[in-house]
Formats: sequence, structure tokens, C-alpha cells
Amino acid sequence: MGRMKEFPNEFYCDTDHKQLFSVMCEKSIDPLRRSTVVDHMKNIKHVEKKALKDKVAQLERNEELAPKIARQTDINSQLQM
Ligand SMILES: [Zn+2]
Repeated sequence: MGRMKEFPNEFYCDTDHKQLFSVMCEKSIDPLRRSTVVDHMKNIKHVEKKALKDKVAQLERNEELAPKIARQTDINSQLQM
């Protein structure tokens, strides 16, 4: 299980079924063969999904931050008055 810490956001370790699950592709992978995991990471579909997910996560983060930044600006302008 320890080796999976290398890819914490891409794979989910299912300890009950002793399987590794690609979060991106929603597909299970045999974790006993490391080459399977490495090959899977090079899979174009996986790479594309990862890129898309990163992009969405980035946009979500920006949306979360936006109101805070706006509020901060309000406070600053009020302090200056
Ligand atoms: Zn995948």
C-alpha cells in the first residue's frame, strides 16, 4: 500500500478488493504489477483526464478564492477612508 503514496491524486487503493483504482478513468488496475500502473499513467486517455481534472480543480479553487479577495479589497478600501 505504501508505494501508492507516489500517486495520491490519481489512484485510489481499494484494500478490500486488493485493487488499485484509477480515479481519472474510473477503472481498476492490478496493483501487483508495477508496470501496469506505470503503463496506465502513460495512457493518453488517463493523461487527458488528469489534465482536465487539474484544470477543473484550478477553476474551482479560483472561484473559492474570488469572493475572499473581493471582501479583502472592500475592507482595505474602508480602512483607508
Ligand atoms: Zn486512468
